[in-house]
Amino acid sequence: MNCLICSNEFIEKPSWSYLFMIKQPQVICDKCQKKFEQAEMKGFHKDWEGTIFEGFLDSLTSIYSYNEFMNDVLHQYKFLQDVELAKVFREDFVHLKSETAMIVPIPMHPEKLKERTFAQVDELLIAANIPFTQPLQKTMNITQGKKSKIDRTQSEILFSVTENVVGKSILLIDDLYTTGTTLHHAAYILKQAGATNVSALTLVRV
Ligand SMILES: [Zn+2]
Repeated sequence: MNCLICSNEFIEKPSWSYLFMIKQPQVICDKCQKKFEQAEMKGFHKDWEGTIFEGFLDSLTSIYSYNEFMNDVLHQYKFLQDVELAKVFREDFVHLKSETAMIVPIPMHPEKLKERTFAQVDELLIAANIPFTQPLQKTMNITQGKKSKIDRTQSEILFSVTENVVGKSILLIDDLYTTGTTLHHAAYILKQAGATNVSALTLVRV
């Protein structure tokens, strides 16, 4: 087997969980695996307090923290369109199989999707075999670089809700948590539409 990240050949140690199909076969070498760092910070930025978005996002969990290695892997995944790399993270999402909340990946703006050719967050869930629902539509196409303090007070919401979410518990999935704008906007609009609980899980916390 060749590592999906560094291309070096590696041998997977046989294990019972693999033989019994409990675990998916490893797709990256141990050396690359060790370069990822587990996220330590929990919760979201305090500067959302006192804004119109306060109290809408109930909780936030991130799996990894951002480092140079993660930056390179995400670059290869998102910008070089190496969709295969979604498999690297499938064990990180596999626990969602027993999730009772409605699983909602953060959608891309249709224009952005055309540009990128694949929905990067959807693909993470597809690789892990996790079913999801999409009640959100991205209505504003803003780039990462434009996200700033001003986003916390703006009233123009980045998403609209296109399906009934009344009384639903929702778990939002995103690749990155940076300023929190995306997740706070999504939680705000979902609760306005009647969702009772909105939590979030992100692959990486910057
Ligand atoms: Zn490797």
